[in-house]
Amino acid sequence: MEYTFFQLKEEERKIDLSVISEKLKNYTEEIVIEIMEELLKKDEFSHVCTCETCLLDIASYSLNRLPAGYVASHQGEIRTRIREFETQLKVDAISTITEAIKTVSQNPRH
Ligand SMILES: [Zn+2]
Repeated sequence: MEYTFFQLKEEERKIDLSVISEKLKNYTEEIVIEIMEELLKKDEFSHVCTCETCLLDIASYSLNRLPAGYVASHQGEIRTRIREFETQLKVDAISTITEAIKTVSQNPRH
């Protein structure tokens, strides 16, 4: 009896979560990719392998150590909020990504 009750209740209440991950954006990802590009162009890192495996390892190493900054894409004033977030994050990101590049290039997975 209880089973039926719960089943009916679930059917009544339709919650569509399928769009949630599409509409969420982690801006730390964009910042990390942007800074990776700048840093990897430096002479200091000219020897660093930039194959897909190494780039993904550098990005995931960095993203696992930096705070995520999720913004819902329908929210207003996103640009302003991202800029505030960027300023706070960029200094940390540069040192974390530098560490990531050194760690990954010293221990490449290939
Ligand atoms: Zn590589």
